[in-house]
Amino acid sequence: MIRKKILNFFYPNFCPLCETFLTAEELLCDVCGEKMLLGQDDYCHHCGKVSCMCQHHTPSYDKAVIACRYDKQTSPAVICLKNSRNTNFAYFAAQIIAQRLQYGQYYGTFDAIIPVPMHISKQRLRGYNQAALIAKEISRLLDVPFREDVLYKPTPGTEQHLLKSVQERARNVNAFKAYPVSLENQKILLCDDVLTTGSTMSRCATLLKENGAFSVTAAAASTTAPKKKENPE
Ligand SMILES: [Zn+2]
Ligand SMILES: [Zn+2]
Repeated sequence: MIRKKILNFFYPNFCPLCETFLTAEELLCDVCGEKMLLGQDDYCHHCGKVSCMCQHHTPSYDKAVIACRYDKQTSPAVICLKNSRNTNFAYFAAQIIAQRLQYGQYYGTFDAIIPVPMHISKQRLRGYNQAALIAKEISRLLDVPFREDVLYKPTPGTEQHLLKSVQERARNVNAFKAYPVSLENQKILLCDDVLTTGSTMSRCATLLKENGAFSVTAAAASTTAPKKKENPE
């Protein structure tokens, strides 16, 4: 108890959404946790969107598991994660995703967890790849190997969220590549922080399948809500 109090004094822990003080073990306050959570039945389990877009564009991943909603109200928690200020949301989302994978009969088990890669210059600047942070925590919770030796991003490219049109986003994802690593018959969990149009996850899933993956499930910490204005920053 004393140790916890000392920890709270030296390393104050805040809710990434409303910035109220939390104890050392809490990740989000109850009110914000409730606000962020996206019900397991409130999105399409194939494309991962609140308004299904499978009819317009079938994603290359087989299934999707999502933890939270990304909208005006909840985006500060995701942006905090991008700006290195507060990584609580990564752990919160990883716990939800792990629970949904563990207790939902629908998903089965995995051979590896792979994050959507970030260009090395950007990763150095930020100090970490937020998708890898989420993936590592899921890997720890589910005891599935974390692999960063498959996908990579050789050029910085433009960040997806800075591109307006679906066409631009689709072209930009060609910046992702895969090393010639065999994933023969493996079931892969692919992980990212925000699922917007799904084109990044689709491109990465295609690469994983070209390397032999049997199936790819897309795990995203958050998904942008109805398509009016989808801009993660
Ligand atoms: Zn809060
Ligand atoms: Zn769908």
